[in-house]
Amino acid sequence: MTHSYDAIVLGGGAAGLMCAITAGQRGRRVAVLERADRIGKKILISGGGRCNFTNLHCRPENFLSSNPHFCKSALARYTPQDFIALVEKHQIPFHEKTLGQLFCDHSAQDIIAMLEEECRAAGVEICTSTHAREVRRSDQFVVSTGNHEYHAPALVVATGGLSIPKMGATAFGYELARQFGLKIRDCRPALVPLTFGADDRKHYCDLAGVSAEVIASTGRQYFREKMLITHRGLSGPAILQISSYWKQGEPLSLDLAPERDITKQLRLESGGRDLGAARTAFRALLPDRFADRWLELHTPQHLTNPALEDLERTAHHWKITPSGTEGYDKAEVTAGGVDTDELSAKTMESRKVPGLYFIGEVVDVTGQLGGFNFQWAWASGFCAGQAI
Ligand SMILES: Cc1cc2nc3c(=O)[nH]c(=O)nc-3n(C[C@H](O)[C@H](O)[C@H](O)COP(=O)(O)OP(=O)(O)OC[C@H]3O[C@@H](n4cnc5c(N)ncnc54)[C@H](O)[C@@H]3O)c2cc1C
Repeated sequence: MTHSYDAIVLGGGAAGLMCAITAGQRGRRVAVLERADRIGKKILISGGGRCNFTNLHCRPENFLSSNPHFCKSALARYTPQDFIALVEKHQIPFHEKTLGQLFCDHSAQDIIAMLEEECRAAGVEICTSTHAREVRRSDQFVVSTGNHEYHAPALVVATGGLSIPKMGATAFGYELARQFGLKIRDCRPALVPLTFGADDRKHYCDLAGVSAEVIASTGRQYFREKMLITHRGLSGPAILQISSYWKQGEPLSLDLAPERDITKQLRLESGGRDLGAARTAFRALLPDRFADRWLELHTPQHLTNPALEDLERTAHHWKITPSGTEGYDKAEVTAGGVDTDELSAKTMESRKVPGLYFIGEVVDVTGQLGGFNFQWAWASGFCAGQAI
């Protein structure tokens, strides 16, 4: 069977739905093809089930991309306030958790219901359990799903990244970009827990569950948030954030006691300098088990002032080299993707192939943790929706 539309959107996630709503409101006849049996599956599991749908302090600096300027136009044209206005129009209760991160009070399902209602109002046709398998281009784009063919002069690729394959993530968007001659920036898991090599695992992983506030840094990038020891390495917001910037083989630097002088009192005292006193000092700032273990592995033989100063420095610049990441199975997003040089920053349309658009996570724009990835999905979706 053949179906004809003004535009076809591949992928019923955050970006695809926002694009379809925007275009539908402009009177375009739009179909969203979604391979899963329902739309917005990732929205549903996001933010621990409450969807961190945007961030009040969203700035271009919160995104990684080979071209850091690319995201600016879209982020300026569709802001967090625009999405908040939509959430408020649907009377969805929400709150700021921390650092400008906005979450639903009840459930991420509220956001999905809102998008569904907006699609209905805009006349968008949503086709679930519809797997796009092949695209060809004659005078129009033709998407084939096996039994059906969908024709349209505009095709929007919103098929997401490679993270969480068991939820149906596919490389279809990247393959399509290649098919049409667009360059891809290497993909890698981002916002992902890091793993330890055998030695560090032996030293620390029995402490799984212990957490501490740290500054995790690599190069010029740093994040001051919680770090969590896991059964295989490190996680927690500080580690997820820095993982997006970390390069295989490089060390991370961890400040275990930001802005605190752990051994100051010890250095001032002439007597009573023993391991017990050092332990008390570290336990005052770190969880007991972690303080004890870390000291066991780093205490100098003699607690002289220079040795204590060294220890202090090490605690603020603890160098640890992860063996790798937990991979796409555990990554919240995929960094890399369709090269932004290939796309118009205003409309997300391919420069080489008129009528072909890429939006959301499939593009080489990756947000930090905290609602930025959804804001990119809404903003890039909106811009394409205005253009098709
Ligand atoms: C566990 C988890 C929690 C997260 N929490 C947050 C959060 O709180 N805040 C935040 O900002 N970000 C969060 N993210 C990231 C965020 O979910 C993504 O960045 C965002 O969903 C990307 O939107 P998208 O529309 O580009 O892609 P997706 O949401 O991945 O949607 C792509 C859709 O395309 C469909 N598809 C793929 N191939 C085909 C095909 N061939 N034919 C038809 N359909 C196809 C897929 O089934 C999917 O529904 C989280 C991610 C994960 C994994």
